Amino acid sequence: MKVLVINSGSSSIKYRLFDAKDYSMLAMGLLERIGEPGSRLSHHWRGPTGEFTETVYDRRIQNHREGLMLVDSAIAESGILGSCSELFGVGHRVVHGGETFYEPTVIDAAVVDAIRKLAPLAPLHNPANLMGIEASLEHMPGVPQVAVFDTAFHHKMPPHAFHYALPSDMYAKYHVRRYGFHGTSHEYVAGKVAVHIGKPLEELNIITLHLGNGASASAIRGGRSIDTSMGMTPLEGLVMGTRCGDLDPAVSFYLGRSTGKSGEELESMLNHESGLRGICGLNDMREIQRLADRGETRARLAFDMFCYRVKKYIGAYYAVLGRVDVVVFTGGIGENSPDVRKDSCKGLEGLGIIVDDKRNNSHGDGICEIQKEEGSVRLLVVQTNEELAIARQTMQKIRSLNTG
Ligand code: AMP
Repeated sequence: MKVLVINSGSSSIKYRLFDAKDYSMLAMGLLERIGEPGSRLSHHWRGPTGEFTETVYDRRIQNHREGLMLVDSAIAESGILGSCSELFGVGHRVVHGGETFYEPTVIDAAVVDAIRKLAPLAPLHNPANLMGIEASLEHMPGVPQVAVFDTAFHHKMPPHAFHYALPSDMYAKYHVRRYGFHGTSHEYVAGKVAVHIGKPLEELNIITLHLGNGASASAIRGGRSIDTSMGMTPLEGLVMGTRCGDLDPAVSFYLGRSTGKSGEELESMLNHESGLRGICGLNDMREIQRLADRGETRARLAFDMFCYRVKKYIGAYYAVLGRVDVVVFTGGIGENSPDVRKDSCKGLEGLGIIVDDKRNNSHGDGICEIQKEEGSVRLLVVQTNEELAIARQTMQKIRSLNTG
């Protein structure tokens, strides 16, 4: 049996197919530009020797349902799945679970409805996730489907961490609070850390830094997220690829008045044209580092602002946790940029956070320790794997139904 994981965006479908026995990956792919000219599926599948082969399908795809049919036929053509009856289940990434969902949830019509009702809190994400879910329910009607929420891991944050200092009926009536995101990744890497250092998660205080195009930090005590940098939406917190992160709310009102931009236009600017891209025109950290190293001042500023904000959150979460055993770097930037790791920790030696340059520069795949011997905090680079975590949670949920 196999398990399929789907991460659906407004014009894209990312997927991974795992063997349900050992969670080895059988196929992965990305379909882009759904409903636009130039739709393209890049499908990677594992052959009998274990090597992955890429097949590309260029054809017009009108909607997510057609998209899933193409994914299905790409998987079938590569000979790794005969029919949907070989699927134990399908796991869907859903960005916002609000206060309704805090564990993996089997999807039925009522759940679809509830996710839709959360759309006002997450207009950029939940409707896009739902397009994939609805297409998948239609296309694979007999297969159990499970929603795994990005917010779920943070749902036990204490009230003093999740509330905003706003009039209380803004929470009571409109559910305005901090929810946090990237939960699947923060939880996954924290679990990996505990196994790696051979201590129960319950005994560890960890700061996890998920640094990718989206970026967030989390303070984890005893396996539980007690604070995180993203808020009601993924806009708050760290500087990101295209999102501004922390911002004086008055900036939005001021910009509304002085530029004449509508609320929607401002929301789009803060989400898509800000962050690293806003500062220097680029959101690929590799390019930014290359230009910064050549002395390009805007790229240098973007790099410095990114690392400075990470450092501020490390300091804040050190204070929140009181004692820190491990700081984890993960995500595309956290896993691959020694310079970002080094600069984010610069000046934190007094907290026992000391990067060893040689270890930091030479780390390979898997989990690596990059602290100096004399540092009291272990600094780990851990590869995240949100899709694998979703596959596992999907399987566990379906198994619990079958046995319960
Ligand atoms: P993610 O969203 O987790 O896929 O991460 C994407 C980000 O990782 C992009 O900003 C990439 O530029 C960045 N990234 C990937 N590889 C490297 C690298 N070797 N050095 C610096 N940044 C990297």
